[in-house]
Amino acid sequence: MAGKRTFTMIKPDAIGNGFMGAIIDHIIKAGFKVVALKYTRLTVEDAGKFYEIHKERPFYGELVNYMSSGPIVAAILEKENAVEAFRKTIGATDPTKADEGTIRKLYAKSIAANAVHGSDSDENAGIEGSFFFAKREICE
Ligand code: GDP
Repeated sequence: MAGKRTFTMIKPDAIGNGFMGAIIDHIIKAGFKVVALKYTRLTVEDAGKFYEIHKERPFYGELVNYMSSGPIVAAILEKENAVEAFRKTIGATDPTKADEGTIRKLYAKSIAANAVHGSDSDENAGIEGSFFFAKREICE
């Protein structure tokens, strides 16, 4: 059965471009309940750990530098079938290929600086949520 939680980050480009509030609003209007929320900044080491599964990909270094280049918002979201529903809400990795009305279509500039992260599986949603939040920071 699909889980009801996913994990997201609003990435440095979207924060820097002033879209933090608009993106949180978009997420809530799309029917997700925010159960944990944090404004923070990753060190290069943190970003390297978070994206370890992409270590072998050619853009890993660029991704780690970018994700530690400015503040981010991390959040755990709830909705039925959350992972898949959120991937639909954010759109394709490359914003030029994202559907109209998706967060990446509206707020992202490039495949690297693509405004938001969304977990790709229930298992990763759990791992990524735990990377940022202690149990007591998650409000049921
Ligand atoms: P996602 O699940 O849609 O976020 O996409 P992926 O798991 O394929 O990639 C993870 C993240 O790496 C993306 O969200 C982008 O920020 C970044 N990324 C993906 N492809 C590229 C690329 O070709 N170049 C760079 N610089 N970054 C990329």
